[in-house]
Amino acid sequence: MKVCKFGGSSLANAEQIRKVCDIMLSDPDRRVMVVSAPGKRTREDIKVTDLLIALANARISGYDGEVEKQAVLNRFESIAQELGIAADVMPAITENIESLMDQDCQNSLKYLDALKAAGEDNCARLVAAYFVKIGRDAQYLNPGEAGMLLTNEYGNAQLLPESYEKLADSIQKIPSIVIFPGFFGYSADGDVVTFSRGGSDVTGSILAAALNATVYENWTDVDSVYSVNPALVRNPHPVAEITYDEMRELAYAGFTVLHEEALYPAYTKSIPVNIRNTNNPLARGTMIVRNRVNFDGIVTGIAGAKGFCTLNIYKYLMNREIGFAVKILQILAEECIPFEHMPSGIDSISIVMRINAFPPEKERIVVKRLQEELGIERVSTSRNLAIVMIVGEAMARTVGVAARAATALSKAGVNLELINQGASEISVMFGVREEYCNYAVKELYKEFFQR
Ligand code: ASP
Repeated sequence: MKVCKFGGSSLANAEQIRKVCDIMLSDPDRRVMVVSAPGKRTREDIKVTDLLIALANARISGYDGEVEKQAVLNRFESIAQELGIAADVMPAITENIESLMDQDCQNSLKYLDALKAAGEDNCARLVAAYFVKIGRDAQYLNPGEAGMLLTNEYGNAQLLPESYEKLADSIQKIPSIVIFPGFFGYSADGDVVTFSRGGSDVTGSILAAALNATVYENWTDVDSVYSVNPALVRNPHPVAEITYDEMRELAYAGFTVLHEEALYPAYTKSIPVNIRNTNNPLARGTMIVRNRVNFDGIVTGIAGAKGFCTLNIYKYLMNREIGFAVKILQILAEECIPFEHMPSGIDSISIVMRINAFPPEKERIVVKRLQEELGIERVSTSRNLAIVMIVGEAMARTVGVAARAATALSKAGVNLELINQGASEISVMFGVREEYCNYAVKELYKEFFQR
């Protein structure tokens, strides 16, 4: 069986909803349908989730929220009208939103989550009603009844592992298509809690893992994952197949096809994830798999992300001092600063961090401690750094890829602030000044895909 998740753009209006229902009905293996809240119809449009956040914030700030409520209801109403089910669904949707609005908003995070979840919840009910209207069998399933138990971290919940069995049991009992709202579950106290934004992807992956699905289809609005950000390069190379590991590396450096946490449940059960386009269902999309069989080049993808900095530490004879790196990292840990990478020389170490994890006030404290506690002679920081990565499983068994990349960047006049390669050898990371980030990505793309 296949678990299918449809994103907000696939549910943004009645026409899109008809398409997703056709997709579900065109393959009897498509048994579980995870839905997002209706997304943007145009570039300027507002997602239903954002309308709900505006409504919650209005109420939290002491306003009646009537205008915001109306905006939410109008979106559902226009979809339901066009599908010919307004009379069947709108009274329940209106009552649901109004009763949520009237809940106590003392705990603003809890209140926000309850309202945010209403986007996917009502969308799932609406889609289920549409299936009934066209005479097809489908059933809405509430995540609470299904056993989607999450930690009580509002807006950033994690799955509790005992959920898997319960979810499988409750879904398998239903003989028809199951329509499951994405993005939220319930805490042990029975409160609605959501994943972080974009979290319907996570719901889909959890259900695919719980049910041991043959594939997790993630339906969105692009034909495939591309080797490079399509905003930077015209007609970028489409990726037919990519491994979880490659995808993870690229996501780290800015690929935003899936929610960051969405691959993990599928990965644990080796369930392939298929990125598909609702607007072009004949396109085969991109397969994310554990082991690749198809290779159409050494490099699979190139990505760049801004917002990094390095803390550069120099000490003569550093390599002789046992435990030196541990002491540095201990100071970072005590100051609650996460670090990302740690390239080193004989007498120097650079610690790469995200800029927002290392604001100037933290820098002052850390530098002082490094000097006073570890007797470090030279410490400097470089800010405004970007990381640029080339990623590909085939790189591990190909000689000279890093050299080719470094040469291409040097010919383009891009200075490399640092170079890093992990044990897996499936990626090489370059640190460049932020202003060179996009340029460096384009130059690397030329080198590996346009020669
Ligand atoms: N509707 C939620 C959001 O906009 C979750 C999702 O679409 O996956 O973040």
